[in-house]
Amino acid sequence: MIKKTKHHLLLPFYHSVSDEVHIHIKNLYQPRSVSQFNADLDFLLENYKSISLERLIEINKSGEEVRENYFHLTFDDGLSEFYTTVAPILKERNIHATVFLNTDFIDNKALFYRFKASILHEELKDDALLSITYNESKKLDELALKNSVDFSAYLKNQQPYLTSEQIRALINDGFTFGAHSLNHPLYKGVTGEQQLIQTKESIEIVTAKFNLDYKVFSFPFTDDGVSKKVFKEIDSFSDMTFGCAGIKEDSANNHLQRVSMEMDKSGEAIIKAEYLYALMKQKMGKNKVVRQ
Ligand SMILES: [Zn+2]
Repeated sequence: MIKKTKHHLLLPFYHSVSDEVHIHIKNLYQPRSVSQFNADLDFLLENYKSISLERLIEINKSGEEVRENYFHLTFDDGLSEFYTTVAPILKERNIHATVFLNTDFIDNKALFYRFKASILHEELKDDALLSITYNESKKLDELALKNSVDFSAYLKNQQPYLTSEQIRALINDGFTFGAHSLNHPLYKGVTGEQQLIQTKESIEIVTAKFNLDYKVFSFPFTDDGVSKKVFKEIDSFSDMTFGCAGIKEDSANNHLQRVSMEMDKSGEAIIKAEYLYALMKQKMGKNKVVRQ
């Protein structure tokens, strides 16, 4: 299937890996457990070779045909489990990875509105909380106040995000970092102008703060609803961007799609299903995301 689809490069994507249940994530999605993650890595290493972000950028820029099977791991949202749980496993197994940061949340300075919804849901058991959008997210703060839920205390006690110090240590260990917007809006719910500000500013902050010589970005939630014009603009100030639409080709320059690994199936089953789906769509000429 790798040969038939011509997708020799696989980009798995995760948020967290944990054996613990975290309230801010609990009501949103199920992260991989440590044993599930290790099983994913076993399957990946049997079939692909881990490459660095620098090599990935180089392959993409040169347009060289990839004949070997490669993978590069990515982690969105800049969560602290990358430091405590993921990095030690990857170092031991010699695997590269890139982490995408929401710059407002570094050092636990603020909390993603979806995490607020999950924390409130734990208290109030109201499913409507989980449908509150980015543009309505003030409601979550109002509800927290009314119900004596203290997000600042939660941030301080739980420390869900990576700190600058941890990020610097991870960079010294060879891990790479990119931006994931300022505060994680759903791009299709905000204007093109806001999409550009969120993208450009977060890339600038991450690059300057951590002294990086590359600029990469992963779209928060989905790249759906981002126009051809905005993609072109983003391409002018970044090296590479990432979506999460699975194994797909994309009309946007230097924009690669990744495979979500947070499903209740083995990594092997997720990846095989993705290839099968891509193969089917390719046969119908429908596997390429075309930006308008
Ligand atoms: Zn995200």
